[in-house]
Amino acid sequence: MPGTPLETLRTVFGYHAFRPHQEEIIAGVIRGEDSFVLMPTGGGKSLCYQIPALHRPGVALVVSPLISLMKDQVDALQANGVRAEFYNSSLAEREAQRVLARLHQGDLDLLYVAPERLMGESFLERLKDIPISLFAIDEAHCVSQWGHDFRPDYVQLGRLRELFPRVPLLALTATADSQTRTDIIRRLGLTQATCHVTGFDRPNIRYTVVDKQKPFNQLLAFLAGRPPEDAGIVYALSRKRVEEVAGRLVAAGIAAAPYHAGLGDGERSRVQEAFQRDELRVVVATVAFGMGIDKPNVRFVVHYDIPKNIESYYQETGRAGRDGLPAEALLLFGYGDIVVARGLIENGGNPEQNRIELQKLNAMVGFAEAVTCRRRVLLGYFSESLGEDCGNCDVCLDPPERFDATEEAQKALSCVYRVGQRFGMGHVIDVLRGSRSQRLLQLGHDRLSTYGIGRELSSEVWGGVLRQLVHLGYLEQDLASYGVLKLTAAARPLLRGEERLHLARPREKPVTPVKPPRRAAGNIAYDEGLFQSLRSLRKELADTAGVPPFVIFGDATLIEMAAFRPTDAESLLRINGVGNHKLGRYGGAFLEVLRGYGGAMPGRER
Ligand code: ADP
Ligand code: ZN
Repeated sequence: MPGTPLETLRTVFGYHAFRPHQEEIIAGVIRGEDSFVLMPTGGGKSLCYQIPALHRPGVALVVSPLISLMKDQVDALQANGVRAEFYNSSLAEREAQRVLARLHQGDLDLLYVAPERLMGESFLERLKDIPISLFAIDEAHCVSQWGHDFRPDYVQLGRLRELFPRVPLLALTATADSQTRTDIIRRLGLTQATCHVTGFDRPNIRYTVVDKQKPFNQLLAFLAGRPPEDAGIVYALSRKRVEEVAGRLVAAGIAAAPYHAGLGDGERSRVQEAFQRDELRVVVATVAFGMGIDKPNVRFVVHYDIPKNIESYYQETGRAGRDGLPAEALLLFGYGDIVVARGLIENGGNPEQNRIELQKLNAMVGFAEAVTCRRRVLLGYFSESLGEDCGNCDVCLDPPERFDATEEAQKALSCVYRVGQRFGMGHVIDVLRGSRSQRLLQLGHDRLSTYGIGRELSSEVWGGVLRQLVHLGYLEQDLASYGVLKLTAAARPLLRGEERLHLARPREKPVTPVKPPRRAAGNIAYDEGLFQSLRSLRKELADTAGVPPFVIFGDATLIEMAAFRPTDAESLLRINGVGNHKLGRYGGAFLEVLRGYGGAMPGRER
């Protein structure tokens, strides 16, 4: 492959410029260095090994845990004219033979392979006679038991460094705290690797949290406020809830389907495929859905229930907007869900594990309760700091109303004191609201001076007050022992009336406070009708070729086409995402639509 990596980026992939860090990473791998790449989802990790694969002699072996992802990646590469194949258990015998023949003939630039295939003795034997340009290990956190997605098959990959001492090795992941990071490096023998750790921020995702009221109506209102072609994922915690929500969406006339581990393999892959192919608008899923999807134009992710920790939440919301266009992450946050999630954790595992998980859940609740910029809280959790408020979350866009909560805080704090600092939130709220529960009466807590002094407020409001008191340091919550609340020294002046306190009023209004974002990145104006015509053409071509539409062109590419209206090959090539191969294959069809459309506006040059 002649030329520079930048030329390859332009001619093969059709992109104009590298994203942050891509160029250094690519240069290092081309020089033969080992690399560890930590980049958020959608950051553009694939090009970090795909371009070096075209610049180094031999075939690049790419290890990926999921068969479904391999196929999409290979389809996308082939659509750009790159010689790529995959080799895994989904291939029929004849297909597998064909792929191996290409491998031996030196007819491949990239081969995607499942870890257990790669590390099988017979395959390793084959590789002895084949020049290898590099090894890329995608989703490298799967090698670590500290990570949240450990795969025993990945452990074998630790031998690669010794078996192929001269071949550069590249490990890539989007999720790794510092412990997992060290573990990956150690297990893969990457002690000499250059580490590239890019920021975790996903500025195109808008984070919104609303109080969960009538969640299904809130979801419907949210969907109604968005363009009908926008697709997304709704996550719920239980299979039952997934089925219920999906069913109600279908009844409301929305193309939706459920996805969870209880469905058969066939059904699950049908749902996944329909979603990839833009035939489903909404997939309602448990956490099982997502690892295997690579759809770049997921426009929204809704959490119908609170996720168990910030890591999962960030990973799940990260599936929105991989194409860099504006995307939405909406969390419906209900007090009752916290209790359910706590119960789930307390029922399983060993006490030590539970303690950690409860702490993580608490951090998640802290995020949902935050009255400061959401992105600051999220990034802060991953030990990254943001210089200023993000301007693209609900708190920034619509700051919560504050009220003088001195009296409520005093009531809550004295009630914590009166129950002997030996009970959690639920019980404190029961006492405040004068509950007649058996347990409360048995304890004699109906005789406390704080019994029933907070009847006028709902449990949700009291929950909000108590949690804010925890976040602000007036109360401590002992997660290792049932979330028992205790006063801190800071509570004193407040109790004595020497200090006034303002808290955020819980948001109770239904969704749609946030206007649907303008679709175009960089706010370019484009013709919606033309965009729709280009989408239909894309869908037609994709169905003929048997690939998901985004393999043909991404939404960002179609938007640029609809904005700049190229009318000849030369100007079409200037659109991001149009490389030489795709120009040859699809250029004619798209130009025909572009030339034929309305004819009103003269083609603008970019
Ligand atoms: P990751 O693996 O980090 O989640 P991908 O490699 O799938 O991310 O890239 C995400 C999206 O960004 C893809 O649609 C990809 O084509 C696009 N992309 C990557 N690099 C660039 C670039 N330099 N310019 C424009 N688009 C890019
Ligand atoms: Zn913000």
